[in-house]
Amino acid sequence: MRRRGTRHRCSVTSAGTGSIVADRGTPRACHAECGHRDFGLDEDVELQQIAEQAGRDLETATPQEILRWAVDTFGDRFAIATSMGDGLLAHLASSVASGVQLVFLDTGYHFAETLGTRDAVASSYDVQVRTVLPLLSVTQQDREYGADLWDRDPTLCCAMRKVEPLARALEPFDAWASGVRRDEAVSRRDTRVVEWDAKRQMVKVNPIATWTQADADAYVAANNVLVNLLAYDGYPSIGCAPCTHRVAPGEDPRSGRWSGQAKTECGIHV
Ligand code: SF4
Repeated sequence: MRRRGTRHRCSVTSAGTGSIVADRGTPRACHAECGHRDFGLDEDVELQQIAEQAGRDLETATPQEILRWAVDTFGDRFAIATSMGDGLLAHLASSVASGVQLVFLDTGYHFAETLGTRDAVASSYDVQVRTVLPLLSVTQQDREYGADLWDRDPTLCCAMRKVEPLARALEPFDAWASGVRRDEAVSRRDTRVVEWDAKRQMVKVNPIATWTQADADAYVAANNVLVNLLAYDGYPSIGCAPCTHRVAPGEDPRSGRWSGQAKTECGIHV
């Protein structure tokens, strides 16, 4: 069970404007001040209701409007996870607020170009980039589980090098964002722009869920957004080096991820 923070934020005002009116530790203490009725719901239930309402209200909103809502609603208890395939989310976030927190999972298996993109994003955009490491180094994992676990049991490897580190990194937050888009995969078609992340018991924001690849490409071009150099070298979807292969023009962009295996997701978004 995720450890819930002690702070509470109201997501609506008595005038229904959607802005935060109080932040007083717990829902009960907050409502005593803001005048909201205290339904006796725990904080996770309130967050779930906020997520589901926002998912409906923001379905046709722009990515900037969705990120603005997230920043206004959660403040410093909101973070964005990025794999540094490009600086798109960082650019969008910095266009609506200063110093939004970004989480980057350094699995120990990244391409040099991906680490370079992280460093360029951190120095170019008004965001705070935090790099999170797995509990075991690659050397320690090889010693305990044998070499090339990614080849023998990629689900276990992803669990230790992506899923657990993200869960740990998101502990201090009430809401997190990803760059998932509906057009990327069948498994992502039902993604809401804001939804309840039941696994982590927190709000998940997907600001570009409704964008197509063409929308993303147009934004990148129009705003001269930093892009991982591998994207120009046959890698439209970039993950860890051992599990990411080039794809031919016109092929499914994600077909280069865990190619030859049934695996299509690392476990973070499912
Ligand atoms: Fe391991 Fe491959 Fe998953 Fe990276 S993508 S964590 S190398 S299995």
